[in-house]
Amino acid sequence: MRKPKIVILGAGYGGLMTTVRLQKSLGVNEADIVLVNKNDYHYETTWLHEASAGTLHHDRVRYDIKDVIDRQKVDFVQDTVVEVKPEEKLVVLENGELSYDYLVIALGAEPETFGIQGLKEYAFTISNINAARQIREHIEYQFATYGTEEEKKDERLTIVVGGAGFTGIEFLGELANRIPELCKEYDIDFHKVKLICVEAAPTALPGFDPELVKYAMSHLEKKGVEFRIGTAIKECTPDGIIVAKGENEVEEIKAQTVIWAAGVRGSSIIDKSGIEAMRGRVKVNPDLRAPGYDNIFIVGDCSLIINEEINRPYPPTAQIAMQQGEVCAKNLTALVRDQGKLEEFKPDIKGTVCSLGEDDAIGVVFGKKMVGTKASIMKKMVDNRALYMIGGPSLVLKKGKFNLL
Ligand SMILES: Cc1cc2nc3c(=O)[nH]c(=O)nc-3n(C[C@H](O)[C@H](O)[C@H](O)COP(=O)(O)OP(=O)(O)OC[C@H]3O[C@@H](n4cnc5c(N)ncnc54)[C@H](O)[C@@H]3O)c2cc1C
Repeated sequence: MRKPKIVILGAGYGGLMTTVRLQKSLGVNEADIVLVNKNDYHYETTWLHEASAGTLHHDRVRYDIKDVIDRQKVDFVQDTVVEVKPEEKLVVLENGELSYDYLVIALGAEPETFGIQGLKEYAFTISNINAARQIREHIEYQFATYGTEEEKKDERLTIVVGGAGFTGIEFLGELANRIPELCKEYDIDFHKVKLICVEAAPTALPGFDPELVKYAMSHLEKKGVEFRIGTAIKECTPDGIIVAKGENEVEEIKAQTVIWAAGVRGSSIIDKSGIEAMRGRVKVNPDLRAPGYDNIFIVGDCSLIINEEINRPYPPTAQIAMQQGEVCAKNLTALVRDQGKLEEFKPDIKGTVCSLGEDDAIGVVFGKKMVGTKASIMKKMVDNRALYMIGGPSLVLKKGKFNLL
């Protein structure tokens, strides 16, 4: 009998978790499993702010996919997905095509600029290893160039972060720790450097406990971050950003570095596929399949699931992506074995911890609020757990964070 072919697109948290669970649950003779990813490595998306700020080398943030997959059971294809054609059960890659019986789409998120002029062209986004490397290099280059200029351009030392959500705040925490090092390295007066966070919403970290938000903001302010809350970016230019000021006025903030951290969407591959979606995210059925497609599962940031308690979508997180990967693997195993009813996905939110740099954080874990060193240790434990869940103890030993204090 012909074995069914399962194709998994994306080796991030959702795709890789699906793969490692499937390679455990299915025998070699039960299915052909193919994993497709742009790079031959997986990166910890949740650590990219550290690589971008330069506080953690980018090689610490990634590991080889071959280190966690069983080559006897999983065929790894390093390629870029160009298109998914559900009606033909076909995936078009840059260098070929793949047919499938079952498909898992786990291609992660893309930056969403909400049509704000100039952001795509002039702002950086913390979206992958290459982007992180570029941000780190760019900031260093600005500091180095400042030292060589006769007529000093202060905007070289101004860094604007668009968005005081999770990603923006975590990046600012790292950057605030890195700036004193950069100043020392390039002989620059610390007081010349400006770190400005611009947020359109009326608060930083919307959805977080207000007491924790206050803690985060005051700790970052002490390290030199200036917050412009309730301020919308109107445009990004080669010279900086234009923000709204009052009813009809605008203000220019000159900055040679603008990082856009205020929005993500699902994959543009989904938009092109004909599967019903909102900004590249599919409101999946409870069993994680795409509505209307019994053989397509969608996990991670490409999926959208509703929190019934507040009737709003869950924010996309690695925590949810990995839990979805586990359920997706169970459901695929059931389908391959023709075992009937599929499991419904219910997120089990254990908590959220937002780091404020290497030694500080805020969070709510199992309903308990925490700040400072305790929260920071918890954050590192969460990071190590993600490694453990996918690659076991050997991956934790290789890539884990052990500088707990
Ligand atoms: C700086 C930052 C900090 C974060 N912190 C947290 C946190 O503390 N806790 C938390 O739970 N969440 C956090 N998140 C969110 C979390 O990282 C995402 O929700 C999670 O990565 C989603 O997992 P995923 O599997 O959908 O996508 P990803 O893990 O991003 O993986 C997608 C994979 O698909 C590959 N890919 C994409 N397009 C293609 C293509 N066309 N062809 C081939 N391969 C492709 C990518 O290379 C990547 O390997 C953070 C995000 C950022 C950016």
